[in-house]
Amino acid sequence: MKRTHHCNALRPADAGKNVTLMGWVDTKRDLGGVTFIDLRDREGVTQVVFRPDSKVQETAQRLKSESVIEIAGLVTVRSPDTVNPKLATGQVEVVATSLVVHNACADLPFPMEDDKADKVNEDLRLEYRFLDLRRPRNLGLLKLRHKAARAIRAELDDQGFIEVETPTLFKSTPEGAREFLVPSRLQPGQFYALSQSPQQYKQMLMVAGVERYYQMARCYRDEDLRADRQPEFTQVDLEMSFIDREDMYALIEGILKRAWKEAIGVDIPTPFPRMSYREAMDRFGIDKPDTRFGMEIQDFTALFAGSAFKVFREAATTSGSVVRAINAKGLADLTQGELTNLENIAKAAGARGLAYIKCEGGEWKSPIVKFFSEEEKAALRQKLDIADGDIVFFAAAPWEQASTILGRVRLESAALLRAKGRLAIPADRYDFLWVIEFPLMLWDEEEKRYLSAHHPFTAPVPEDEPLLATDPAKVRGQHYDIVLNGVELGGGSIRIHDTAVQKRVFEDVLKIPADVVASRFGYMLKAFSYGAPPHGGIALGFDRVVAMLAGRSSIRDILAFPKTQSGQDLMAQSPGVATAKQLRDLRIRVVDEEPKAKG
Ligand code: ASP
Repeated sequence: MKRTHHCNALRPADAGKNVTLMGWVDTKRDLGGVTFIDLRDREGVTQVVFRPDSKVQETAQRLKSESVIEIAGLVTVRSPDTVNPKLATGQVEVVATSLVVHNACADLPFPMEDDKADKVNEDLRLEYRFLDLRRPRNLGLLKLRHKAARAIRAELDDQGFIEVETPTLFKSTPEGAREFLVPSRLQPGQFYALSQSPQQYKQMLMVAGVERYYQMARCYRDEDLRADRQPEFTQVDLEMSFIDREDMYALIEGILKRAWKEAIGVDIPTPFPRMSYREAMDRFGIDKPDTRFGMEIQDFTALFAGSAFKVFREAATTSGSVVRAINAKGLADLTQGELTNLENIAKAAGARGLAYIKCEGGEWKSPIVKFFSEEEKAALRQKLDIADGDIVFFAAAPWEQASTILGRVRLESAALLRAKGRLAIPADRYDFLWVIEFPLMLWDEEEKRYLSAHHPFTAPVPEDEPLLATDPAKVRGQHYDIVLNGVELGGGSIRIHDTAVQKRVFEDVLKIPADVVASRFGYMLKAFSYGAPPHGGIALGFDRVVAMLAGRSSIRDILAFPKTQSGQDLMAQSPGVATAKQLRDLRIRVVDEEPKAKG
């Protein structure tokens, strides 16, 4: 048993050769007494012919789709009228002289043609993931993922990085996500946490003198799942010593450029534009702006300071509050349901309601427009470029909140406009953007303390360091995020490498109790007093990078074995219950032993 060619190899020049092919029965047809089978493997499809005079035709006729067979036969050039221009092998066929059935396929749980399979319930496809993956288009996504990984590795290798693996069994870290705990049998009552990211280990590698580290790191976060989140995912994780932010920007631009070129043949221009966090929030209401379309936020705080409309006047005259608006061009005819949905989105971001003006038939329709003066209307019209068919949305709230509300309304409005065919964004448009100059700390109203905007190892911008003691909110961090078309591909920072500064951030600013600092981060503080180089790093969400390359919105599509929204692997049926012995060994008692219903 040895195949001589794969199913995408044979051409007219091979005519007359005796070949052996193996693969899956893609389709089968009986025409004029002759049986045709399209034989498929990873590489492509070849037509195999079983003539009535052959011993094997009868077996061939009984074959079910997706059975695995081996055929031997003679390569023959097809007559011009039977050439199939859709197949690379379409000018030839193999006339079979022998047939071995390696595995007869059972009745398929769903059709395998893309147009039909795509409509099948995702849970069923995930239960039979081995079949769904076998569809050429899905295998193509795995190949794309491989090509992207290869390009990234090659670039990092060229830049002098070495790949180092770090432990998955770690301990609780401050990235902020809920963690998966793993009970330790040898240390009863103690738990590992699965690594949320190799952050601390990679910093230790810098102290160890590795200088340039990377890893295709598997990371684990026990968060509620969405289309772009999975409990385990892969980061292109890296760290470098003796560098500054500019070195990092150039490195990542080089990596992404190479990945785009080698995976999908697209040249992306570098360097990428940069935008401060403040500007991103101000113009787009989000720290990962989608800059492929306008609909930018405009400020009208000064305009409404003396307005007859009380809600706007009060916001405009309250310190820190603003009145801001966007113009969703061409969306005035949205349905009541769509408007209610936008209101709910605004409310979820903290708005009490969503004030709007619909411009239809030369009229401004809105419950609030009667309060506006001619001057206010003229200023709105001019600054927002209002025309018939537009709808303007307002937010009156503190700056950050007003911006966030409009940022979310902007994205939803754009989605509606795209669905209605009124906002065209080419599929091959890639708006890369660095978002920089984030605040180091953000005040958390619930916890009444500062929290790190990125993570507590991020270094402050040197000139802002004195403000750590007096006004932490004003300190900018040396943190950068890389954004593509409104999706955060990754982020990182230049790190603190000084024990005293790191201790101050932990204890004085973040108010982490000294004993907690000692137990969680003591070893880092110790390491930083034994010759720590200045260093910085970044992690790119590799699954998201591949999803963008593939033009997919869900990272489930580009993982070989993704989990469902409820964290289950429906194929392997995990998670599952533990045996009584396993639990005894781990000294664990399950309080609620009812396993959750499947599905
Ligand atoms: N460890 C960080 C993260 O997972 C990335 C970094 O700062 O390098 O988000």
